[in-house]
Amino acid sequence: MASVLPPSLVRVAPVEAAAGLLARVVPPRRRRLLAVVGLLVLLALLAGVATGTAPRRDYVTGLWPIALGSIAMLLAPVRARLLVCSCVALISGLAVLLASVPDALALGFAPIAVLVVWAASAVLARSDGARPELRTDADLRRYFAAALLAGGIAAAGAATTYLLVGTGDPARAALGFGAATAASHLYLAPLFLRLPAPGAMARTGERVVQWVAVVVVTPVLLLPDGSISLAFLVIPLLAWAALRATPAEAVTQVVGVLGLALTLTSLDRGPFADVPSRYGLPGDYRGVLLSAFAATCAVIVVPLVVRVGEYVGAAAASAAERDLVRGIVDGATGIAIIGTDPFGVITLFNPGAERLLGYRADEVLGKHASALHTPEAIRDKAAELGVDDGFRTVVEAVVGRRLVGTPIRFLRHDGVERTHAMTLSKLTVAGTTSGFVSTSEDITDQLDTEQALRDALETERRAVERLREVDAVKERFVSTVSHELRTPITSIVGYLEMLADGTLGVVPRHQVEALLRVQSNSHRLLALIDDLLVLSRVAEAGIRPHEEPFDLRDAVRTALDVVAPTGQPPRSLQLEVTLPEVPVPTYGDREMVERMIVNLVGNAVKFTDDGGSIAVTVGLDDGAHRSLLRVSDTGIGIPIEEQHQLFTRFFRSSLAESRAIPGSGLGLAIAQAVAEQHGGSIALTSRPGEGTTVEVHLPVRPGMSKIQLPLEQRPARDLAGPT
Ligand code: ADP
Repeated sequence: MASVLPPSLVRVAPVEAAAGLLARVVPPRRRRLLAVVGLLVLLALLAGVATGTAPRRDYVTGLWPIALGSIAMLLAPVRARLLVCSCVALISGLAVLLASVPDALALGFAPIAVLVVWAASAVLARSDGARPELRTDADLRRYFAAALLAGGIAAAGAATTYLLVGTGDPARAALGFGAATAASHLYLAPLFLRLPAPGAMARTGERVVQWVAVVVVTPVLLLPDGSISLAFLVIPLLAWAALRATPAEAVTQVVGVLGLALTLTSLDRGPFADVPSRYGLPGDYRGVLLSAFAATCAVIVVPLVVRVGEYVGAAAASAAERDLVRGIVDGATGIAIIGTDPFGVITLFNPGAERLLGYRADEVLGKHASALHTPEAIRDKAAELGVDDGFRTVVEAVVGRRLVGTPIRFLRHDGVERTHAMTLSKLTVAGTTSGFVSTSEDITDQLDTEQALRDALETERRAVERLREVDAVKERFVSTVSHELRTPITSIVGYLEMLADGTLGVVPRHQVEALLRVQSNSHRLLALIDDLLVLSRVAEAGIRPHEEPFDLRDAVRTALDVVAPTGQPPRSLQLEVTLPEVPVPTYGDREMVERMIVNLVGNAVKFTDDGGSIAVTVGLDDGAHRSLLRVSDTGIGIPIEEQHQLFTRFFRSSLAESRAIPGSGLGLAIAQAVAEQHGGSIALTSRPGEGTTVEVHLPVRPGMSKIQLPLEQRPARDLAGPT
């Protein structure tokens, strides 16, 4: 509910109802204006009462409500302030006139009142234009400064006016008017400033008792024309309200008590009424004493209200913070949070610690935290940190070095040790150690897994090393055996040739046939040995020793000469060779590349039935960065499920086996090794019964085209035979 009235008043039920009614009836824009007008009317009324009822009419009474003018100035929009000042001047002048003093005095008091409200409102106003507060020490300082400044201006103004007019005693006028103005700001301003928000600390019962006490005791103390000091006994009751009731209640009670004192004094009743005659003082001293009483009430109650408000606010904030921290600590069930006092005695053991360490909190609270570790764990940690053995030294080292997540072994309730990653913090209050808090999580499983992984990797590394060794031994063995076999078999083949062609004498016809078979098988054996030697050479030494520039077209021609020496493909197969017009510069081991092409074209010939066709194509690919050699046939193809093994040594497809097509199963492995050693690649696609295509990509070296290619270039069709 928006209200023109301060929240302190709004919390008082009848005021709340009135404010509610006002809020419904008055449009929001007008409310502020209405409040200002209301304050000025109230000022006029109370000022009239204050001066009109003053017993000796040459002085104003003690409770001069000029602070209402200051508040009106505070609330008024900037453009209306001049008007407010004029009203304040008018009201003050008229009110002073009521006191039947010389008119010149009234003329003097009008500008003083304007100066007072202007200065007090300027001190109270906030730079951001919001309604001033009375909640902090700084607010209190402003509040007292405004009251003192207002009082000072009023005192100085009154003395000057009296001096100028030449009537009465300027000093007494200064005292009376200054005290009344200051007191007025002290007890009225809190009604319109924002007071601390917290509610009452006392329960309803206590508040009712307090209200009853104030309502009953105040008249008892103020009604009789007793001693003035009795009136001050009401202050403890007001302080009670300040400490235990709401701020609005406390301030309302102050205003109520002072209102009663003013009314009684105006009616010539109560302890302040006959002060001058009883103590032989000048008449205006009753006003001064009344102001002193009002100021005392306000000076005691207002700071108390502010302090209690601050305290309650801070207590609520720290309770909320404590609840939050408690919630986090209790909710962190995966983390052990253990708190100790400065001596290491456990004072906090959260549910996470209970879960991870297996103790109930009540089992460990009050015990020393070292009980949660074995002596060995502490010794190991001390050794790791390089400090003397001992719980205390380890704690100091971990805290001092600000270690985060440092591993340390905790002893569980069941006697099992678990490794935690722990962070230890020291708590200090005003520079003194008030305790320690450790937060830790169990990382044993994580460490075990890491160790297992490390072990597995080590085992795997050893196995790979061993396999490499085995592989190397095997390669060496195959290479040696092949070398050793090649020489005698070459000799056997030579002798067989001589036997077969009759150089060593005539051999009967039936023996020639046998010799030819032996010769054929010896050739196969020789081819196998050659393949093995090539493979081991490529695998072991690479091809670097034999690198040279050459034209890929020439390598294709030479290879085709081997497969089809007559220029015609063997059997009734069609061979189509497509070579580009320009050289295809390649750099590497030409002999090896030729062997690769022989293997690929040889396979195409072997695995294509009579009547099929074979196509060999050379070209440039990938923006002339790579050369392409494609060998495709319309042969028997390779079963799909076997194709993944094609480049494995000694692999032969089930089709090749079932048709007894000879071969070692090394040709594709050699082709792949050669392509890769040249920085290229090989890929095979095949469909059973339809044919096979092998594509080899080799890099074209930059600048290669400039190399003088030594070989003579022949047109493709010379070699290709029928196309
Ligand atoms: P091989 O000496 O048996 O030809 P390769 O390594 O050259 O050995 O080939 C391995 C196997 O791949 C062959 O046995 C054959 O089953 C299959 N293969 C290779 N090229 C072809 C092809 N062009 N057509 C059908 N099958 C092929």
